[in-house]
Amino acid sequence: MQLTENAIRVLQQRYLARNEKGLVMETPVDMLLRVAKAVAGAEVHWGGEAAVIKWQEIFFDALSQLHFLPNSPTLMNAGTPVGQLSACFVLPVPDSIDGIFSTLRQTALIQQSGGGTGFNFSHVRPENDYVSSHGGIASGPVSFMRIFNAATENIRQGGRRRGANMGILNVDHPDIQTFVSSKITEGQLSGFNISVGVTDEFMMAVERNAAWQLKHPVTGKVVKAISAQQLWDEIIYAAWSTGDPGLIFLDTINSANPTPGLGRIEATNPCGEVPLLPYEACNLASVNLTRFVTGRKGGDGIDWDSLEKTIKVATRFLDDVIEVSDHLFPEITTMVKGNRKIGLGVMGWADLLLMLEIPYDDDAAITLAHKLMGFFQRVCYDTSAELAAERGTFPNWSQSIFHPGKPMRNATMVSIAPTGSISLIAGVSSSIEPLFALAFRHRQVADDMELTSVNTHFLTYIEKHHLDIPEVIGPILESGVAGSSSVLPDEVRRLFKTALEIDPAWHLKHQAVFQQYTDNAVSKTINLPQGTSREAIDDIYMNAWRSKLKGITVFRYSSRQHHALYTGAGL
Ligand code: ADP
Repeated sequence: MQLTENAIRVLQQRYLARNEKGLVMETPVDMLLRVAKAVAGAEVHWGGEAAVIKWQEIFFDALSQLHFLPNSPTLMNAGTPVGQLSACFVLPVPDSIDGIFSTLRQTALIQQSGGGTGFNFSHVRPENDYVSSHGGIASGPVSFMRIFNAATENIRQGGRRRGANMGILNVDHPDIQTFVSSKITEGQLSGFNISVGVTDEFMMAVERNAAWQLKHPVTGKVVKAISAQQLWDEIIYAAWSTGDPGLIFLDTINSANPTPGLGRIEATNPCGEVPLLPYEACNLASVNLTRFVTGRKGGDGIDWDSLEKTIKVATRFLDDVIEVSDHLFPEITTMVKGNRKIGLGVMGWADLLLMLEIPYDDDAAITLAHKLMGFFQRVCYDTSAELAAERGTFPNWSQSIFHPGKPMRNATMVSIAPTGSISLIAGVSSSIEPLFALAFRHRQVADDMELTSVNTHFLTYIEKHHLDIPEVIGPILESGVAGSSSVLPDEVRRLFKTALEIDPAWHLKHQAVFQQYTDNAVSKTINLPQGTSREAIDDIYMNAWRSKLKGITVFRYSSRQHHALYTGAGL
């Protein structure tokens, strides 16, 4: 297997199985064999032992060539006593102590198994509201979020990583202003990403500078009217200050809800790429696009046949994961087996563009994204339809948008996940993000391990063009960017522009084109330079809504003291 040094470190630290003494007892190849074997076990239902053996080989072959990788819980847990394989869960938060603490218990157990949890806290009555059962006053959604956060801080997933949560509050909840500023003080709710659940009605009220009503979640009564613009400004200020809150566009999400008959979607998983109903879970995998570049420059340098084969294998793999995963609770089993949501996405997009010598901020990149993702989604859908013919539709199919015309095995098929860890294992750029830097330090929150990366495509390029001289390379490794180099030709600096040098409008264009072909959502962070203004973030959030994104997150460099990526390797 071709693994980078960083990949080997990450695998040894967190993924490879250990014995009772804590010693690593498998190689990366053993790990992938364990995963392929456990997941192919599902095939016995439809094709007997022969199918198990056949698909075990096919899965192993694809995984060991790093053609695709499943989400971390599948790599860590498949074929081990912890059989929970999904990364994404959403749990309900009802307006009762009993209900909230029962969800807290489920959250703890999901996080212990490596899953991430998302919640919408909007059903909880506001702070200082009357509680009839004991005549006291309510503490409100944000104080309950702090309890969930404390639980997360104390559960380490087998010592491998800390849990992650998404906390959502709807824009008309009376406590929305407290929620919006709940992460402004560094260190608060550090186990949560937070997002405001906004509606088209609110976004239009901001556009018209109209009044906005906050309503009691239980009685529906109007508690207070505020200016929509004022609330919007508070959201923008907080996002500018710390990166939180993001926005979740509830109406856009629900217009694509595949099972409207089962209820309205109110929440997503921690990074936002999977909108889910309460008690739904989703398992993810990402295709490593760099493996399908033929070497020819420009938009046609892709081996479409091999890509198609991999998408088909990975889709089947994910459908099999549903069969063999331990869904932990009966409520989750019912929802997961009822809708069979899966999320296949991509990683290495920026690397693919570099290999084809297409700048990220060029129309040719967007044109290729349309072609690639149109193809990708079509193959995912065709595979799910083929699986439906072989195995039957998902049980809630008759209540879905696919009924009656299109028998499908899965209620959703595509999701663009951040691929934070699996892109390190594959040694490629993460998800659809541009390069963060040509050289950067990556802080691993779980164990404070710091990894240094220098982009190999950059090194190859400058060697090929005889630019690998210390005067060129030294300052670039130091700063992480090629932009200020006075020696490099313009086209090289343009090709190797990094996240903070690329205009945010181009980040959004990429997110929007990928979203167009993604039935779940696209997780993307619009990384911004430290000097970005509040007005710029205002524009990004507005344009995200207008571009029909399902959610949006920004991060202004250094707006928090501790963050994951630092430009420049300091080499
Ligand atoms: P990976 O690279 O490990 O497969 P991603 O970075 O693509 O994971 O994240 C995918 C999803 O996995 C997230 O949206 C979230 O639901 C879950 N996840 C990521 N990191 C964590 C974590 N530390 N704890 C729990 N869940 C996580």
